[in-house]
Formats: sequence, C-alpha cells, structure tokens
Amino acid sequence: MQVSGQEAEARYRTLVAELEAEGVRLLPKDRVWHQRVIDVLLTIVTLGAQGSFLDRYVTTIGRTIYLTPNWASRTAADRYATLRHEAVHLRQFRRWGLVPMAVAYLLLPLPFGLAWFRMRLEREAYAETVRIQHELGGRAATDAIRAHVIRQFTSGSYGWMWPFPRSIARWYDGLVDSLDHPL
Ligand SMILES: [Zn+2]
Repeated sequence: MQVSGQEAEARYRTLVAELEAEGVRLLPKDRVWHQRVIDVLLTIVTLGAQGSFLDRYVTTIGRTIYLTPNWASRTAADRYATLRHEAVHLRQFRRWGLVPMAVAYLLLPLPFGLAWFRMRLEREAYAETVRIQHELGGRAATDAIRAHVIRQFTSGSYGWMWPFPRSIARWYDGLVDSLDHPL
C-alpha cells in the first residue's frame, strides 16, 4: 500500500463530511423497505444471478447512498473507493435528472444483455474506482480487482449489462496504462 489505512480513513471521513454538507444522505440499505423490495425483484429477474444486492452492493439513487450491512467492517480503502464510485453516480443523477437517469440505466436499449447506457454510466463510475485504487495501492491494487471489475459488466451482477469481456478488458487495461504512465 502506498497510502496507510489511517490516511485512507482520513480521506473517507473528509469525503463523508463533504457529501453530507451537500445534503447527500447515507442510509443502511437493509433497513429501507424499497431496497428490500428491489433485492427480491432482482433475485427473481436475474434467476438468482444477482442475489446479494442487499448484502454486497452499495447503491445510489438520486441524492441518497444506500450502504451495505457490513459497511463499518469494510477497510477504509474499500469504503473510500466505494464512496468515490457512488459520488460519480450522484453527479450523473444531478446531470441527467432522476427519471431520465433511471430509465436509461435500467432499460436502454435493453434491461438485460445489452444495456449500453448502464455500461457507460458504470464504466464512468468504475473508472473512478480504478483511479482511487491506483492512488491508494498502485498497480498491485488495480491488478487485484481487475477480474472482479470485468465480471461486474459481463455477469448477472448488473444484469449482464455488457457481455463482451474483451472490450471491457481493453478499456480496463488502457485506463490502468494511462494511470501508470501519466502524460
Ligand atoms: Zn456503480
């Protein structure tokens, strides 16, 4: 690690304070009824491929970030990188508006299998994840999450949003290259 756990914790706390000052709410996901409903619906429509929405995936809707039950026990680096990813989604909701963003994210052109808008919106957010991991832990950190990130795009985790692993891998490797060799 290039950045210590203590430093990551400090960055995390600063980011939470900034988000809260902007009026962003951070709520425990499993205590919000509509998040539990979404969890059940996702398990059904993905035939179980996304069965851990409530337990493992932090979600942003509008100006609220829904945190997983294990949030406090995650490492500071993980919490910080995850919130920076979600901060990208907060900006996307501000830029596009709640309804257009939700429709594009969930439905266009298809809800599953070929969700171009969801892929582009998540790619922007995962680029932030990768940048932060690189900042915190260098190339070793981005190598450690590479397979996981690619799987998020191609598997049922996000409804098979872009089932082309080679194109996602090219994007990922190009991004890491640009971080390794800044101009
Ligand atoms: Zn995301």
